[in-house]
Amino acid sequence: MLQLGGMVPLTTIDFPGHLAAVLFCQGCPWHCRYCHNPHLLPTNVAGKIPWAEVISFLQERVGFLDGVVFSGGEPLLQPRLPEAMQAVKALGFKVALHTAGIIPARLAKVLPLVDWVGLDIKAPLHAYKRVTGLAGSGFKAEESLDLLLAARHVDYEIRTTVDPGLLGEVDIQQLTTLLARRGVKRHVLQDCRPALNLDKYQQLP
Ligand code: SF4
Repeated sequence: MLQLGGMVPLTTIDFPGHLAAVLFCQGCPWHCRYCHNPHLLPTNVAGKIPWAEVISFLQERVGFLDGVVFSGGEPLLQPRLPEAMQAVKALGFKVALHTAGIIPARLAKVLPLVDWVGLDIKAPLHAYKRVTGLAGSGFKAEESLDLLLAARHVDYEIRTTVDPGLLGEVDIQQLTTLLARRGVKRHVLQDCRPALNLDKYQQLP
């Protein structure tokens, strides 16, 4: 069903106000230098957890957990994400999604299924490639932001990781102003986690 690189059985912080399990989807085509889950970027690796095991785990947690977070990597890369979310909802769990909005058409498909989205908006448009390493990535994120803001039933948080090597104060100010103009209600600036990132990971023996 999903190519999963890991699972956290309980989190209190990844789905605000909810006790949840986190499923880490394998694969992401972007290459943010600060990515703190670099082992989840390749797609040419075997999934670590069979879906049947996930469902069996969740069946045992009915009544104890409120929700399930689909995180990554980039969950939108998984073609069967809608099916997986439906299976989780059928067990009575709420659904949260962490995404960078890399495939807007797939976000549109899952928005009717999700209760909360943490959407990364990484930079103002002119600086997107500097962060993700990919030309055109900012247009995808912008389109996804439009879709999310139009989905009135979905609660959300827009997140920006502040790496001083990639974004300057002017960039942050521009982005904050732009998001406020777009009517974004909750925008969170996050510090980089220096312990492990894509740069350090690629230097490991
Ligand atoms: S931080 Fe960037 S590279 Fe890492 S998973 Fe998110 S979008 Fe992909």
